Amino acid sequence: MKPFSLENAYYFTNVLIPKYVAFAKAQKILIFRGEAQRFIDRQTELYNAGRSWTLRSDHLVCCAEDYEMLMRGDDGKLRWVQDENHPDWEKLGAYWESLDPGCYWGGRWDSKDVAHVGFDPREDD
Ligand SMILES: [Zn+2]
Repeated sequence: MKPFSLENAYYFTNVLIPKYVAFAKAQKILIFRGEAQRFIDRQTELYNAGRSWTLRSDHLVCCAEDYEMLMRGDDGKLRWVQDENHPDWEKLGAYWESLDPGCYWGGRWDSKDVAHVGFDPREDD
């Protein structure tokens, strides 16, 4: 996690994320924004509950958001996609990673977090 930077927050939120959302729409993959900006008290709560491995999440500096996947069932109702191995996750993650060298996807972590898309700019950027 880099310190908060308005440049990075703007680029992540207003440049990268709209491309990601547009890509999902073009692929007819239904995504739904879950947690975006997070404050330290929420991060500490997740960390203490074992639901996050860090207190230095990019959510804290407006450079990470979680997008859940939805599907419409035969009854026409929306449902969460619970399967983290659903092939559309890889499509979304690979696209996200292609947007910028600083883009990383939680689906690559040992403890998978397929909904997580983050941006951690390289030092030389
Ligand atoms: Zn996340």
